[in-house]
Amino acid sequence: MKVRLEKVSKFFGKTAAVKEVSLEVAEGELFFLLGPSGCGKTTLLRLLAGFYKPDAGQIYFGNQPMNAVAPEHRNCGMVFQNYALWPHMTVEGNVAYGLEVRKVKQEEKQARVREALEIVKMSEYAQRPINQLSGGQQQRVALARAIVIRPALLLLDEPLSNLDARLRLSMRNEIRRIHSQTGITTFYVTHDQSEALSMADHIAILNHGEVEQAGKPAELYCKPNSPFTADFMGEINWIDAVVEEPGDGRRVAVRSGQFLWRVASPAPWARGTKVRIGFRPEAVSFANAPAENSFTATILESFYLGAQQETLLKAPFLPNQPIRALEINPGKNSAEGKNRTVSIDAEQILIFENSSG
Ligand code: ATP
Repeated sequence: MKVRLEKVSKFFGKTAAVKEVSLEVAEGELFFLLGPSGCGKTTLLRLLAGFYKPDAGQIYFGNQPMNAVAPEHRNCGMVFQNYALWPHMTVEGNVAYGLEVRKVKQEEKQARVREALEIVKMSEYAQRPINQLSGGQQQRVALARAIVIRPALLLLDEPLSNLDARLRLSMRNEIRRIHSQTGITTFYVTHDQSEALSMADHIAILNHGEVEQAGKPAELYCKPNSPFTADFMGEINWIDAVVEEPGDGRRVAVRSGQFLWRVASPAPWARGTKVRIGFRPEAVSFANAPAENSFTATILESFYLGAQQETLLKAPFLPNQPIRALEINPGKNSAEGKNRTVSIDAEQILIFENSSG
């Protein structure tokens, strides 16, 4: 089922928890609501579930307006952060509960519980009480309980936040697998950008209740349309600069100290505009061949991590602001104090007007 939100707002007193949010989610998508604490993710999920009514705007499931539809008639499956399972009931009892409420006949109920437990790989634990399961197993039961009702929409609120780091990684794959096996349109709330990047079909980044940007993971990471999105999606080096040459439709030249950066920009910039340019640590290349945006930098610190190496560099034109670089598959440990030639591809540099400067 496709879902559409049209200028949806929700206020708590004077606070706009969700502000004029418009989104379209295609049938069968795994759609992420991503953003920092307090940006309105959970409120949006509760609006979809029907626990809150929008103060303005409309939510559509397919072509049906939903604002006046009660939660129990929305056919949404939900997984909460704390799973909200009955601790003393068995796995089977927890999963069957939603079907009992819906008065599904005994035979069909058993078949559907069996199927849901198979999908989440928990069949062998059917008779175990919940309080004898690990966190990851409880997570699977919560998912089974949500999908057993064959919801039109699955709503997941930070479903992995209570698991340890390793389990979180493996459950990412599990949730993706379960999602593609069931094909249920799913909203997934998280503040973890790596979870969103690795799992989502599409992501909406929320900032103070508004959609800052929506798109595919790689679009948000590589082509953020604001510094907020750029920062939120991953590490970035920001440098204040001033436009020196307005650009030829391909490159604009901006100055920071003694250095003239060439930055890819199809749009022209007025000479003298204060800007911030940004590039991700992995955009710093250690190739020796002369390239655009090439300079010699001194290694301040280097952290060898096996598969990759993180290096803090001092550029002569930026003495007080280290540049963070990330080398994938590093050859050997780099010595501190050594000079290295680095370059940054103009296409990988972002440019934004510096409103604070
Ligand atoms: P977190 O990641 O911390 O759970 P969130 O992005 O889910 O945050 P929400 O819980 O949706 O954010 O909250 C959005 C804003 O609305 C916050 O400013 C919050 O304080 C406020 N808010 C949420 N629920 C209520 C409520 N029931 N009454 C008053 N204010 C609320």
